[in-house]
Amino acid sequence: MSKPLQLPVCTSCSRPIMPNDECVKYYCPNCGYVLIWRCESCREFARPYKCVGCAFEGP
Ligand SMILES: [Zn+2]
Ligand SMILES: [Zn+2]
Repeated sequence: MSKPLQLPVCTSCSRPIMPNDECVKYYCPNCGYVLIWRCESCREFARPYKCVGCAFEGP
């Protein structure tokens, strides 16, 4: 825990996304400004996410 890594954080579950995770990232379909990250498990279980910019919620 001595070297903090700048890992992207899953928008759905707030967990850091590992480099080997089968994650997806895309811009918010509503505002187009916020980059949405979804980890492998959130994608698999279709957990909802919420855009931090415009509060858009989507699957
Ligand atoms: Zn997740
Ligand atoms: Zn948005």
